Amino acid sequence: MADVSLKHIYKVYSNGTKAVNDFNMEIEDKEFIVFVGPSGCGKSTTLRMIAGLEDISAGELKIGDTIVNDMEPKDRDIAMVFQNYALYPHMTVYENIAFGLRLRKLPKDEIHSRVIEAAEILGITDYLGKKPKEMSGGQRQRVALGRAIVREPKVMLLDEPLSNLDAKLRTQMRAEIAKLHKKLGTTFIYVTHDQVEAMTMGTRIVVMKNGYVQQIDTPKNLYNYPANKFVAGFIGTPQMSFFEGTLKKDGEYVIIKFDCSDADIKVPYSLLYKAKPSSLDGKTKVYIGFRAEDVSLAESNSENNLAVINAVVSHREELGNETLIYAYLCGFQEEAGSSRIIIKDNCGKEINSGDIIKVALDIGKAHLFDKETENSVLPRVPEYNYLDCQIKDGKLIFHGTAFEIPSAIKCANTNGELLLPSNAVTFGGKIKAEIVSCEEINGINLFSLAVNGGRLFALSHEKIERNTVNIGIDFKKITVIADGENVIAPINEVNSFNCTFVKRKTKRRIEQNGKVKNKKTIEFGFLTEDVFFSASDDAVQKIFSALGVKKAYVSTLKMECGIHDTVVSDTGIPAKVESVLEYGEDKFLKCKIGDNTVYVKTDREYDGDIFIAPDMDKIGVVEKEREIKII
Ligand code: ADP
Repeated sequence: MADVSLKHIYKVYSNGTKAVNDFNMEIEDKEFIVFVGPSGCGKSTTLRMIAGLEDISAGELKIGDTIVNDMEPKDRDIAMVFQNYALYPHMTVYENIAFGLRLRKLPKDEIHSRVIEAAEILGITDYLGKKPKEMSGGQRQRVALGRAIVREPKVMLLDEPLSNLDAKLRTQMRAEIAKLHKKLGTTFIYVTHDQVEAMTMGTRIVVMKNGYVQQIDTPKNLYNYPANKFVAGFIGTPQMSFFEGTLKKDGEYVIIKFDCSDADIKVPYSLLYKAKPSSLDGKTKVYIGFRAEDVSLAESNSENNLAVINAVVSHREELGNETLIYAYLCGFQEEAGSSRIIIKDNCGKEINSGDIIKVALDIGKAHLFDKETENSVLPRVPEYNYLDCQIKDGKLIFHGTAFEIPSAIKCANTNGELLLPSNAVTFGGKIKAEIVSCEEINGINLFSLAVNGGRLFALSHEKIERNTVNIGIDFKKITVIADGENVIAPINEVNSFNCTFVKRKTKRRIEQNGKVKNKKTIEFGFLTEDVFFSASDDAVQKIFSALGVKKAYVSTLKMECGIHDTVVSDTGIPAKVESVLEYGEDKFLKCKIGDNTVYVKTDREYDGDIFIAPDMDKIGVVEKEREIKII
């Protein structure tokens, strides 16, 4: 039983294939995690890195409290079950299960009791004396599971264990593995390409594609809040229907235009209030997705949030309790994939191929994705508040409420649009707000606040029990657009410095037996702008483990440090102060290092030439060539 922590895990094979990119996940003790995705997406490679069967190119892997990157598989306290159960044909089931324990020289009594217990859990007690060839596929896979569970591992790893079984047996074994997980109370990590298997077994699912994690969430949340078009299309049967189109905010409404239909649909903005502002400009192409259950045959008295469009029936699938109707939006050929729509119909109306039907789309349930990035533009945690605003005499005014603009920002009076990130609404300012609702989403609290009658999203890691709060704005993060220009732009909150990893010899004065001696030591660190910064032991270890000894010194790296963690120091990187920016109580120096602009937190004013230094305990390091985040 153990937590498993994967931080910035990468796998680059020697032929250059980047099989796994920046995999980050904290798996809690006793979770049932499923890695799912199409063939070649990197799920087995990730599992094999956890098992120790594959080297980790970069990143930190922990099982329990131990970093196991360089630990042999046998010492990791894990057990693995494969698709190919690889039983020894000449041994009985008992011997097969006991084999690993015998190798580890456990006492005979102990082996016996563990084999019997495992056989009972798996319901194969009657087969212990049989040879594998006398058993069915399902029974053999149970023996393979038995061989894993007698090891009493901290983590069970299962790589497509059911894909050799027929459909019926697979469903049965699925349920048995889920039961086994409950009974054992062990952390399970399970790999499959089958989304139904993932949805029915996992407490949380990791959806992967092309070596990248697409989304990590519970089955329900993956279904209801897919983070991108790939996840939306991969999870759920029948597949989600997608249409191309545009969205345009028009006062309190949004006009939806489908490329494949003449119908313009006007819906209240409140239905799409979480939408990313840039997607509502009437130009940005989006995919508009609907699950079959959110599409119905239109009644004449449709409700407001139902958009009605015409479609031609292609064919239907009778599933007994319901019917799936496959149709194409009118005026389009069947081949035009993005005009296909699937309707789940429970009312059993007589409908035939070629019929023209009216289809009602529940806009409140629409899933929206940017056509270019394919990422959701209707995220569960909205990134921005998108509001009309006014700048007047040093105040930013929206929802009829004025916020004092800090002296760092100079801006003439104007009317415009405000992009206020949800994480830029701070708690503890001067403006009163009412908490209308609070929703906990993956460990963060999303608040809907009422400010003078208008709504605002805000985020906090803390739960707030009160009904009213005082809020402020982090002006470093906001954008104001007037006449198509950014009149206020956010500042970059992370400084980056190009650097290399270096080793240097130093002499240190030490006292030994009352005598002062010079001792030669080797120090590792990062060289940026010809200035040496000593690296922490942890950083040195991560650099060597990701790059190897040879490449460590020749790779081009980028050191990143938050502006709150970059300070003025007596020695450090020479920089020129351009201005002092005051954001309320926070003061920053805007500095130039060559062409590079950096910001430095300060509590006094400087001008001219200074030295700056990143806090070496808080830096991030990226290898530029392969874009691998090492620290
Ligand atoms: P999955 O388990 O999702 O089907 P894998 O983890 O097996 O995918 O593979 C991920 C990618 O890594 C694929 O592109 C595959 O071709 C590649 N790959 C796997 N093993 C090796 C290897 N030993 N050498 C080079 N490339 C590999």
